[in-house]
Amino acid sequence: MYKATIGLEIHFESKTNSKMFCSCPNEENNSLDEAPNINTCPVCMGHPGTLPVINREAIDKIIKTGLALNCKIAEHTKFDRKNYFYPDLPKGYQISQFDMPICYGGFLDIAMEDGSSKRIRITRIHMEEDTAKSYHNNNGTTLIDFNRSSVPLMELVTEPDIHTGEEARRFAQELQLILKYLDVSNADMEKGQMRCEVNISINTEDDEELGTKVEIKNLNSFKTVEKSIEYETKRQSEALRNGEKIIQETRGWDDNKEATFSQRNKEDAHEYRYFPEPDLPPLTITQERIEKIKCSLPELPNQKRDRFRKEYNLDQKTIEFFVREKEVGVFFEKAVSELLAWYKEAKKTDDIDPGKYFDMIKLCANYIVTDLQSILKNDPELKGIEEVFSFLNSKITPENFGEFIYLIADEKITSKIAKIVLLKMYEQNKDPSQIISDEGLMPITDDSELEKIISQVLTNNPKPVTDYKAGKQNSFAFLIGQTMAASKGKANPQKAAEILKKLLEA
Ligand SMILES: [Zn+2]
Repeated sequence: MYKATIGLEIHFESKTNSKMFCSCPNEENNSLDEAPNINTCPVCMGHPGTLPVINREAIDKIIKTGLALNCKIAEHTKFDRKNYFYPDLPKGYQISQFDMPICYGGFLDIAMEDGSSKRIRITRIHMEEDTAKSYHNNNGTTLIDFNRSSVPLMELVTEPDIHTGEEARRFAQELQLILKYLDVSNADMEKGQMRCEVNISINTEDDEELGTKVEIKNLNSFKTVEKSIEYETKRQSEALRNGEKIIQETRGWDDNKEATFSQRNKEDAHEYRYFPEPDLPPLTITQERIEKIKCSLPELPNQKRDRFRKEYNLDQKTIEFFVREKEVGVFFEKAVSELLAWYKEAKKTDDIDPGKYFDMIKLCANYIVTDLQSILKNDPELKGIEEVFSFLNSKITPENFGEFIYLIADEKITSKIAKIVLLKMYEQNKDPSQIISDEGLMPITDDSELEKIISQVLTNNPKPVTDYKAGKQNSFAFLIGQTMAASKGKANPQKAAEILKKLLEA
């Protein structure tokens, strides 16, 4: 039985105001549609005689990232030159870190499908600069845009603790989520702000040494990370089974064929001739600086999952939704606090029975996840959940939504009326009480009015009435349905059932 051993190398651009070693704007912060080669200067164009200066904000952000990923932070560190020649690298070398990374020895716990958790150790995260961007044209020419040249870039390397494509995908997804929570990178894989490389080797369970290492590059989505690993695991296992030797090489991913292909083998591997960057002083990171950054860390996804479980008692799937869609989670929490305020105000008490408390919270979560989402999905002008919820805030405020849930929880409106009210709230940007009174959607609280409606229903449906009296229980449900329809959903179903029973048995 063959087993895959996988390590990841993940690059992500830092969201700083300026580039790593000069004061040019960092395009990671701006739209990518900007004209090429406008954010450049002699430093990031690699002109001779220019000197780099370390970007303090970029160092703060990598420390923040390292702390969130349980890394140790180096007190003394330095930059090194990684020498290689490529048109997108104007200096002929990249300023990177070789043997003294800023962050080292961390880990990230990822949640698996079955609810178990798996720890992936992080070897290091170091700071470097991005290269320029090449555009290869169909006519054989290549254009280079230097806007990206020298944008601060972090590189994270894991220990070979990963064994399946799914684990690798979950690690990369959780990392992306953390980077977003920290606001250190937009980490959009499609835009190349986050890039994954996979190192994979195959051996048998009882092999003491790891198999030959194959590198997979240019993976531009989480799905391709997972699929390329599954493909390579299968390809290499089959080769070994057939007695073939695995070649140490770099492979790319072909999205159309859903297969990896050989790009270059070990003989073409670069010799980078690393040496300490002579133009930059060694960097000392003080304990005070680290402590200050530690204090600025926000609540992280795993902490939020724990808190949502304890505080709101929600199911796993709903929690995951609110953690992943951070803005929606914020909306939910604000709405809950409004809802509780409405309830306390109405009941003139600060004590809410725990059963009622969790029921109301669950109701609030459900209305966001189902009803609200379906309204948003049907709006053709909105794309993507995050855009949707920032837009939503301007249409339905958490205050109005909290009140809306209170009205349902306290049986002021039926669930049928609730659907109408919610849609009108969205369309008209008004609070629910206003809509209920404007549209005449007040529930029927007057028993005699309800009796009148039910008597009419009975007159109109003689057959179901006879059937019910002959013992057919189904007819009762039918008559309730008719009553709800006749009241346009404004009758309280329990009250209606009471009165209907009374009238039928009279
Ligand atoms: Zn510059």
